[in-house]
Amino acid sequence: MKKVFCIGELLIDFVAENQGKDLSKAKEFSKKAGGAPANVSCAISKLGGESLFIGCVGDDPFGTFLLRILENEKVDISSAQKSDTFTTLAFVSIDADGERDFVFSRGADKELTYDSSLKSRFENNILHFGAATALLGGSLEETYNRYLFDGITKNAFISFDPNYRVDLWKNKEDVFIRKCHPYIEKSHLCKFSLEEAQLLSGKDNLDEACQVFHEMGTQIIVITLGSEGTLLSTAKFSKTIPSIKVNPKDTTGAGDAFIGCLLQQISQHSKFENVLADEKLLTNMVARANKAGAITTENFGAIESLPTLQQLDS
Ligand code: ATP
Repeated sequence: MKKVFCIGELLIDFVAENQGKDLSKAKEFSKKAGGAPANVSCAISKLGGESLFIGCVGDDPFGTFLLRILENEKVDISSAQKSDTFTTLAFVSIDADGERDFVFSRGADKELTYDSSLKSRFENNILHFGAATALLGGSLEETYNRYLFDGITKNAFISFDPNYRVDLWKNKEDVFIRKCHPYIEKSHLCKFSLEEAQLLSGKDNLDEACQVFHEMGTQIIVITLGSEGTLLSTAKFSKTIPSIKVNPKDTTGAGDAFIGCLLQQISQHSKFENVLADEKLLTNMVARANKAGAITTENFGAIESLPTLQQLDS
């Protein structure tokens, strides 16, 4: 089984409880572990895969809380770092229509430093880049770029999720697009939401968007479409794979559960080429990942809602 290195941020989401969209009026918040790459590492581990998280938290109680959650989920945190800067915090309120108000207090996640000892461990393994905060600058961005280079050098399978956050890139979408492009060019697998696919390809039509991404170099493209399932595209075929029917309560983390489940399955194969060449195998993998995403929407929160192997097999 291959190891999956998940690189990026781990932070606290303070979610406003029942107060509508206006954060200025929010009185109560619940503390949740957040950070897409960290969620992905938990999704993999919960399904029996081997995942490692590479990111930085503050040397404070929030950092301790976050790393403890990953440890409880059996994620290898031996390469996680702690810095003197406070743990990154996000405050968010969401109203019934999904409208968000958002305050982001960026701290330790940006301070991840490069660890040269990891390069040899990347050999023939899987690197997953979840880019919600990584491309916003700081030492994390430089480290991120170096690990991408190391991964390519060591023949690792590269996976990329841009994790576009409107609030973080307001009025600088062009910078986001420019910074994502090298990752799309170098990745074997890219996972996009509908909005990300359109933004990063410059095409509204998803078939045209996939063509742009394939021409850039990505071999497998998955575009997650919520209850509609997932569009899967390779150079040979393109199809939408339906999801299962659920009664969603909270869609947070569905995309992370999806990509985590897909990577966990890919990690079981010694040769990526075999996966790519087998349409039926790839289709079944995406169908299973759809199920993982769907199950995650049935409960509140991200990590706590990720499916176990038992739930997924039932
Ligand atoms: P995130 O907001 O976490 O970044 P995302 O937008 O990438 O996620 P979604 O499309 O919401 O991801 O969900 C990922 C996958 O989970 C979907 O492709 C689908 O298979 C499944 N899924 C999500 N929501 C539902 C739903 N309401 N019903 C059935 N399946 C769902």
